[in-house]
Amino acid sequence: MRREASLALLEWFQAAARRMEWRETEDPYRIWISEIMLQQTRVDTMTPYYRRFLRLFPTLRALAGAPLDRVLKAWEGLGYYSRARNLHKSARILCDAHGGRLPASVDALTALPGVGKSTAGAIAAIAYRQDVPILDANAKRVLARFHAVREELRRPAVERSLWEHSRRMILPGKGRETALAMMDLGATVCTPRNPECGACPLARWCRARRQGLQDAIPRKGTPKALPHHDVVLALVGNREGKLLIGRRPDDGFLGGLWEFPGGRRKPGESLAGALRREIRKEVGIGIEVLEKIGVIRHGYSHFRVTLHAYRCRKAAGRVRTSREWKWVAPGALGRFALPRADRKLLELIAGRQPHEGQVRERGTT
Ligand code: SF4
Repeated sequence: MRREASLALLEWFQAAARRMEWRETEDPYRIWISEIMLQQTRVDTMTPYYRRFLRLFPTLRALAGAPLDRVLKAWEGLGYYSRARNLHKSARILCDAHGGRLPASVDALTALPGVGKSTAGAIAAIAYRQDVPILDANAKRVLARFHAVREELRRPAVERSLWEHSRRMILPGKGRETALAMMDLGATVCTPRNPECGACPLARWCRARRQGLQDAIPRKGTPKALPHHDVVLALVGNREGKLLIGRRPDDGFLGGLWEFPGGRRKPGESLAGALRREIRKEVGIGIEVLEKIGVIRHGYSHFRVTLHAYRCRKAAGRVRTSREWKWVAPGALGRFALPRADRKLLELIAGRQPHEGQVRERGTT
């Protein structure tokens, strides 16, 4: 049965494979970039980024030699920025210690920052045609349904058995095709909702289908309510009309990106009070709060924020903290990689210049 199912999957793949430009290349560097970009990102979103990234950094050495700011700028808008930082870090490691080549073994690949076991398997299978398994979200769903796995897929014992199922799907010499076929089957037929079992090459052997469990597998956990924070953001202008932006520390959330200063409001605090406190703490200067620019609601993977943006004026003191700060002309902000929320703010004020005026606070409760 296993061999027949694998053959049916490969036959289906021959006819139904999705055409993607990173499948037309044998270059491990390009395949690595595509696999990292595809983590948590849809193909249609990722494709223009992939093209632009490779125009800017056509080789591993070009990526290693680029400043991190340039790499983050190329990634701007794609989210999960640790992926870009890890690619950059890995490129430097590979140039320093591996002759500028991406290794072929799963063990050596997983030693690179940001490369997990499934990504390593995909690179080894696709770029180096090795018979190694993958277990990305698509493959995991297909295999869980195929074997009618009803438990939570995140449990270590369940995951181990899925890896084994994935490995056993591979016919000798067909690691590349099997990996791609499982990815495609999960993306186009055995989709998270409403799988098209009638069009599935595995239907004859699929236990979930036989038991009518397609919609119950994978088992869904209870969705957690995301915490919400009110955040104040200051567009601090100086006498030359430049705006203050700071670079986030490289390690951590949105690391290496530039942003307008600000922070979370404490319980019971006014928005203007939160602004003054945060800017004093973060930048070391006193500010005069001028006017409210607008409110932006933004969601991240693990929390949501309501951003209250204010135009402010530097009132006292000198910028002095361990962070890197810059005064930048509004027209030059496009050169910096900013988080999406800060970009939204720029769109909101597009065409308007910072100005000096009376304090006109609104909505500060
Ligand atoms: S038969 Fe249905 S549930 Fe089973 S693998 Fe195919 S699409 Fe998924």
